[in-house]
Amino acid sequence: MNGLPTLDEIRKAPKVLLHDHLDGGLRPETIVDLARDCGHELPSADPGNLATWFREAANSGSLERYLETFAHTVGVMQSAEALTRVAAECAQDLADDGVVYAEVRYAPEQHTSTGLTLDQVVEAVLEGFRIGSAGPDGRPRIRVGTLLTAMRHQARSMEIAELAVRYRDLGVVGFDIAGAEAGYPPTRHLDAFEYLQRENAHFTIHAGEAFGLPSIWQAIQWCGADRLGHGVRIIDDITVSGNGGEKLGRLAAYVRDKRIPLEMCPTSNLQTGAAASIAEHPIGLLRRLHFRVTVNTDNRLMSDTSVSREFAQLVDAFGYGWDDLQWFTVNAMKSAFIPFDERLNLINGVIKPGFARLKWPA
Ligand SMILES: [Zn+2]
Repeated sequence: MNGLPTLDEIRKAPKVLLHDHLDGGLRPETIVDLARDCGHELPSADPGNLATWFREAANSGSLERYLETFAHTVGVMQSAEALTRVAAECAQDLADDGVVYAEVRYAPEQHTSTGLTLDQVVEAVLEGFRIGSAGPDGRPRIRVGTLLTAMRHQARSMEIAELAVRYRDLGVVGFDIAGAEAGYPPTRHLDAFEYLQRENAHFTIHAGEAFGLPSIWQAIQWCGADRLGHGVRIIDDITVSGNGGEKLGRLAAYVRDKRIPLEMCPTSNLQTGAAASIAEHPIGLLRRLHFRVTVNTDNRLMSDTSVSREFAQLVDAFGYGWDDLQWFTVNAMKSAFIPFDERLNLINGVIKPGFARLKWPA
């Protein structure tokens, strides 16, 4: 009626995803299968009930319950076969949602409890992405790059950074750190970031999700992050005056001027309390102010979401049309960690023609 993109139409649009956790996107049926194979005890062995359990735990507002969800997904991802299966299904699910390029991240150090080496973990996941990306005719339906994550409360970031560089020509496109922000500033891992910079490698840092501006400032100005995971708290450096004008502080201005990509994950932010509702999510203001905003899923299982669903919610809350959705998508593609010419080919050869077909159906 109002001409805004519908969920079904959005699914057909060629989309780009930069922030998605492999251990946050498993199919509930797969968790049940894998748990049976490895003897892992689940809160429910019924896929439907398990899906509800994951969503409720993630919505509970309790960090303890939220983290418990990952104990189960990571718990069943401890063999090469399990990792390959989960990665293959991830690529298939994203392609089914119309995602044409994705960067999916995970922490290799969390998958070694039964004796896999870090290299074996990486190779099993790369193999899964290779399998899952292929369409029925063998041609790729989606391109998936991997980001290797180090846990910010652990001390293995240098080792993981070296792993990312070792596999950079084999499908690993970057590095990330994740985990509780409070008490674990990114500067704790400065040696890893300096090493990556010397190696001309790319990295993003989870920063400014729950924790405020100092975390964002450190990630950019001390660690040299190419992108910010979430970065929503950058709004703390923007003053909105009564008459609708906005004034950017120096850090917010720097982030916008330098076109530093913000990997925003609206539904996930509601679950962690970083925003009260989609309509109140900072993404509305940041889009209006032309920050380099991208739209992401974070954890598709816990948030019961997809890139299309995130877009559909933004359409509902802000009245976004196809031009807005294309803008977010081109932003994301410009901000990807693959070479510039390949990003350009996807923008001009896939994304723009795909959106044109939806905007102006023949
Ligand atoms: Zn994340």
